[in-house]
Amino acid sequence: MNRKDFIKAAALSGIAMGILPQLAFQNAELSYEELIGKGNPTLYGNGFQIRKEAFDAFTKMKNAALEDHISIQVVSSYRNFDHQNRIWERKYKSNTQQGLSPEKAIQKIIEYSTIPGTSRHHWGTDMDLIDANVAQPKSVLSPGHFEGKGCYVNFKKWMDKNSKAYGFYLVYTDLPNRKGFKYEPWHYSYKPLSYGYLQAYRKLNMKDILKKESLLGHQYLTTSFLDKYYAENILDINPELL
Ligand SMILES: [Zn+2]
Repeated sequence: MNRKDFIKAAALSGIAMGILPQLAFQNAELSYEELIGKGNPTLYGNGFQIRKEAFDAFTKMKNAALEDHISIQVVSSYRNFDHQNRIWERKYKSNTQQGLSPEKAIQKIIEYSTIPGTSRHHWGTDMDLIDANVAQPKSVLSPGHFEGKGCYVNFKKWMDKNSKAYGFYLVYTDLPNRKGFKYEPWHYSYKPLSYGYLQAYRKLNMKDILKKESLLGHQYLTTSFLDKYYAENILDINPELL
């Protein structure tokens, strides 16, 4: 969707004109390092870290939600390359120690976690969100909590109705036939920034970048594996973010 269409759609969904200017897409002035989590961006947040524009929009959204008794809490926000690599190595070791082949271990990791250098959390635009105003389950990031009688159902309903007005979109939707990462009803992206970042990211050669990194299990990250990962895990997302 181009900017004009987006604004038209936003206006049609009843958004007050007052908040439209902040939704204008930014030019992606992001360095190669920042796109792969190796930069040093200026980040904002109390107990979490995101870029200024995303933080300002998030604050407005959080305050609006509070009026409806929903307390949006950030579970995860900016992660740099090293952080993502620690997750990768922990899961790779755990999966292989449980007897999975390296190939199967990697397949299991990429149900919910990215290969370091390919996470949208590297951009400072994406966050995992829950509602702090309800009794918390043991493992908060589980799809079942966001549907049926789950504890975050009211949060999900509120976000479905309101989050786009503040620029926040679900990335890994439950659209039938979507491939790549599984449904993540908690992962939101601040589109006015991340839309341009994804365009910039697509201009990089991800395969060449990953070859230089010598990640744990790198010998199993074959060309055909990475082609599929790129098509499904990076690009098979909410079409509104493409
Ligand atoms: Zn996430």
